[in-house]
Amino acid sequence: MEVPAQASNGNGGHEYDIISWFDTLSKNAAAVQRETLCRILHLNYGVEYLKKWFGDMEIQDMDSCALESLYASLVPLASHADFEPFIQRIADGDTAPILTQQPITTLSLSSGTTEGRQKLGGRILEFIYSSKQFKTKCGLTAGTATTHYYASEEFKIKQLKTKCFTCSPHDVISSGDYKQSTYCHLLLGLFFSDQVEFIASTFAFSIVQAFSSFEDQWGELCSDIRDGSLSSTITLPRMRKAVLDIVSSNPNPHLASQIEAICREYRASNWYGIIPKLWPNAKYVYSIMTGSMQPYLKKLRHYAASLPLVSADYGSTEGWIGANLDPGLHPEDVTFTVMPTFAYFEFIPLYRQKQDLTSAVDFTEDVPVPLSQVKLGQEYEIVLTTVSGLYRYRLGDVVEVAGFHNGTPKLNFICRKNVILSVNIDKNTEKDLQMVVERGSQLLCKHGAELVDFTSHVDVAHQPGHYMIYWEIKGEVDERVLSECCRLMDASIVDHGYVVSRRTNSIGPLELCVVETGTFNKILDYFIGNIGAALSQYKTPRCTDNPMLLRILNLCTF
Ligand code: AMP
Repeated sequence: MEVPAQASNGNGGHEYDIISWFDTLSKNAAAVQRETLCRILHLNYGVEYLKKWFGDMEIQDMDSCALESLYASLVPLASHADFEPFIQRIADGDTAPILTQQPITTLSLSSGTTEGRQKLGGRILEFIYSSKQFKTKCGLTAGTATTHYYASEEFKIKQLKTKCFTCSPHDVISSGDYKQSTYCHLLLGLFFSDQVEFIASTFAFSIVQAFSSFEDQWGELCSDIRDGSLSSTITLPRMRKAVLDIVSSNPNPHLASQIEAICREYRASNWYGIIPKLWPNAKYVYSIMTGSMQPYLKKLRHYAASLPLVSADYGSTEGWIGANLDPGLHPEDVTFTVMPTFAYFEFIPLYRQKQDLTSAVDFTEDVPVPLSQVKLGQEYEIVLTTVSGLYRYRLGDVVEVAGFHNGTPKLNFICRKNVILSVNIDKNTEKDLQMVVERGSQLLCKHGAELVDFTSHVDVAHQPGHYMIYWEIKGEVDERVLSECCRLMDASIVDHGYVVSRRTNSIGPLELCVVETGTFNKILDYFIGNIGAALSQYKTPRCTDNPMLLRILNLCTF
């Protein structure tokens, strides 16, 4: 099969090449997938992990169809736990070909063309953050995938080729203190405000988080712009120097007064539409807004008003998966078209358990199928085989086939696979919880308050066991309204196991705990400070058993 050469850059002139390249790929998705698998297996032929299953079998001359079925019959499905001992050996300095033939140099830890641009290039106000990179025993660099990316040559090349530069220098992105970085991102975003072409982050949470800080810090930001100074709260020397190098030579009292006037006016309407007002040349907001980011959409829309929200692509540290080919769609309607060259994909058909109340699993599974055999409307768990040494790796994401682009599927992201709420025979996923919380928060909104963030916990220490939902809210509502929200959420859980258990009182009434303002920031601080998470990849845990988190939540409950 002939595939046209891939376009060399994203600089406008080669758009046709990219489209025709992808068109050919997607029309021949099944063959491209087989070729991708052959490429990965030939590249890594003889590595310890594959030898375990293939033995000394000669696969080099095998026909691609035969190799595809042999692979699925010999190599088992595997989860993160199965790969952990191999990855540990690599981290500890074992240089033998364990998972890949090429030496591994970096370990990524899992948990981002406009027309009419100025000649010199535009700017992106990007709320991006690196966590600390560290060295394993044998000197390999480890850190989150986004951390490696922001430090890479590719990140620089992307900016040069698209002529769109992030407002903040690397010392701001990599400071390791997300509060100080956020302040500097905002300051530099305002400083370059007339050049900013779009606002972006990896996950939408970071933008909402940044504008929530902006609501408190605009006064100080304006002083810094007026005087060409930097707030004394920014204490990290390298970041201070990098930001002062930009702002100190250019105090801008006129811009500061303009921003101040806008903020005074917009504060009165709870900051509705502040993004397009402060960045009048921005054309859209770009971020992952699907899956566990959906609860932040409402607030993002509030800040962005009529500015389009463009939902970013679908991928993971383990491997990139699909692209949003219709950037004009509302985030709620976005699907991700699988790129058949990114990895070899398999799909485990999942069926929701409705009848069998004694089952311990939320889904029953069927035999994995290749990409070319997925069916419209069916839910699947994604399995990846990648060049970087993952073989039949279960990603844990549930997707639904929403359509096809030629021969490659368009996926709806549904949820992470694990059941998050279960006392006994009841099973509710992250998506189920989101829908229930959405119902409750609609009622909250009617009474003039808003939901800032939420999580949940299953309390089985007290009988009968029950679900607890923790809410941080903004605004005042009385006890009566909260009781009604709680009742409404309890009644909105449609899972049959839950409904039956509630009726027999083997599950107690849902409990709503309202926590103090700032509680979810404390949780974020805990993850970033103790677990080494990076804000760029942070996702609020929607259900927790973590004793530290529960301690924070319970101490902060009114
Ligand atoms: P990480 O573990 O930090 O690499 O994050 C990867 C995970 O984030 C994926 O496995 C998904 O669960 C989630 N994710 C990534 N992109 C999207 C997207 N566009 N929509 C929904 N969830 C996503």
